[in-house]
Amino acid sequence: MSESQDIIAANSLEEDETHEIESDSGGFSITASDILEYLFCPRFTYFQNYLDIPQHEEKRFKVQKGRTVHEDKILVNPQYLRKKLGVVERKMSVYLSSSRGIRGIVDEILFLDDGSAAPLDYKYAEYKDRTFKNHKYQLTFYGQLINEHFQVPVNKGYIVYTRSRNKLVDVSITRQMYCELDKIINDLLHVVQKGVYPKPTKYKARCSDCCYRNICEKVI
Ligand code: SF4
Repeated sequence: MSESQDIIAANSLEEDETHEIESDSGGFSITASDILEYLFCPRFTYFQNYLDIPQHEEKRFKVQKGRTVHEDKILVNPQYLRKKLGVVERKMSVYLSSSRGIRGIVDEILFLDDGSAAPLDYKYAEYKDRTFKNHKYQLTFYGQLINEHFQVPVNKGYIVYTRSRNKLVDVSITRQMYCELDKIINDLLHVVQKGVYPKPTKYKARCSDCCYRNICEKVI
């Protein structure tokens, strides 16, 4: 059996259930999508969340998620997780929110035999020999939520690239990444709550994919 066959199993999970865990999340709340959009371009966030200009979905930049794990119906084999990663418990599709004002649905939370936990996220994408910054900070975001709710350390996460034969990639989540996430969240809040006008993305190629290119002074 190939490695990809080994790590996945369709419809073979006894733990396949949805959990919902909630805590107080008063005020403005930030989702993982907000973080992805802000990392795509802070000015995109300004147009969408501060000026409230609706985006046209068909022209929206390609949010990396694509299809969800539930649509794909292919999940990492629990035996693989147990033997290779030391997983002792697994929760699927967990909704978490925080009094710090962040919330999101984690595809999977893996509880490991060293007492830590790790988010696992499915990407309907090919693996390109490196993990992109936005994917790393999405995992960091989930790590923050998991740490707050379960009071366990989260120092790594996993991504499954479903278009690369379900390649499983592990990503370290360092203290520095948590600090950087705090900064991203603070900067994002300055844009959406105070209307701070951000600089455009420095990656011009993103503008051609952006639904705000007709009103953004970066490109008109
Ligand atoms: S057109 Fe470019 S700079 Fe302007 S919001 Fe879109 S991605 Fe950002």
